[in-house]
Amino acid sequence: MSRVYNFSAGPSMLPEEVLKQAQAEFLDYNGSGMSVCEMSHRSKVYTEINDEAEALLRELMGISDDYHVMFVQGGASTQFEAVPLNLLGKNNKADYCVTGNFANKASKEAQKYADVHIASSSKDANYTFIPKDINVREDAAYVHITNNNTIFGTEYHFVPDTKGVPLVSDMSSDILSRPVNVNDYSVIYAGAQKNIAPAGVTIVIAKKELVDNDNTLPYCPTMLKWSTQAKEHSLYNTPPCFSTYMAMLVFRHIKKLGGVEAMAKYNAEKAAILYDFLDSQDWYKAPVAKEDRSFMNVPFVSPSEELNAKFVKEAAANGLVTLKGHRLVGGMRASIYNAMPIEGVKKLVEFMKKFAAENK
Ligand SMILES: *Cc1c(COP(=O)(O)O)cnc(C)c1O
Repeated sequence: MSRVYNFSAGPSMLPEEVLKQAQAEFLDYNGSGMSVCEMSHRSKVYTEINDEAEALLRELMGISDDYHVMFVQGGASTQFEAVPLNLLGKNNKADYCVTGNFANKASKEAQKYADVHIASSSKDANYTFIPKDINVREDAAYVHITNNNTIFGTEYHFVPDTKGVPLVSDMSSDILSRPVNVNDYSVIYAGAQKNIAPAGVTIVIAKKELVDNDNTLPYCPTMLKWSTQAKEHSLYNTPPCFSTYMAMLVFRHIKKLGGVEAMAKYNAEKAAILYDFLDSQDWYKAPVAKEDRSFMNVPFVSPSEELNAKFVKEAAANGLVTLKGHRLVGGMRASIYNAMPIEGVKKLVEFMKKFAAENK
């Protein structure tokens, strides 16, 4: 067996130790005589997984009792609609910071339900930076940001000043990569398949005062209602049990490694290896403004389309796979989430040096 370094933007690598543990207990989970894939979500053995996953996430992120934590389905894209549906019941104004493709999609979904105002945008610069000033309507129901722009490789390294308007953040591609002060946000949501688990479960962390005060639009589908999901402890209907179980294993793993502080240190080290190399030469170009560079997704280009294609192909032959950039950006993109080992990043930089020398 030979495992590759998978630089995919998502689904992405999972810690090998977690995969092995899941493999070892796949046929007989915890003496139950069955796989997590086969058990009732109402059984004691599964509700323990559900509870432990929630408790560990609360511990890792420092989530207080002022917040509900929910494990739902539909991916982050479903939350693009759930956010307005759950927050606009009393006020139909929603402000969006448009810093990339997912941010734009989120704002488009909200336009079905809300009077949407674009509080900031870097579209004119092909999303190569994060606008620092945002123009918020002080009477908006919420302001939405995309914490890490997976496709364009930018990341908020600050919390924007929303003038007291509740802040909603899509953290799909950088959740658990570094500490955040949850109290700065009213809602955080994230699909699992970048930093947490196989696709399936979506995490929603929402302030109880917003969820419990009935800010839901009357036609909000029951499945998307945070108040229902919270009340039922994410067991309103059949949940994505296996994905939540894998999330629990990953949470245990992160805790063992030293928590999100340790992840932040490791991720900063990995990102520095790649960015320091990019800054040390001018054959490859990295388009993103330095202060807004993502620690998770690193886009770069070689001098030509042909060389980009050659790079992706030859890298794959060297065990460095899924480096093709998103079609909206072109070139290459190295996604170096929590589970990408530092050895993978070092190998990538070695390959980049060799490829540049051979093709200059
Ligand atoms: C991947 C991603 C999404 C889409 O997630 P799905 O779970 O596929 O719906 C949304 N936002 C961000 C920031 C992402 O990285």
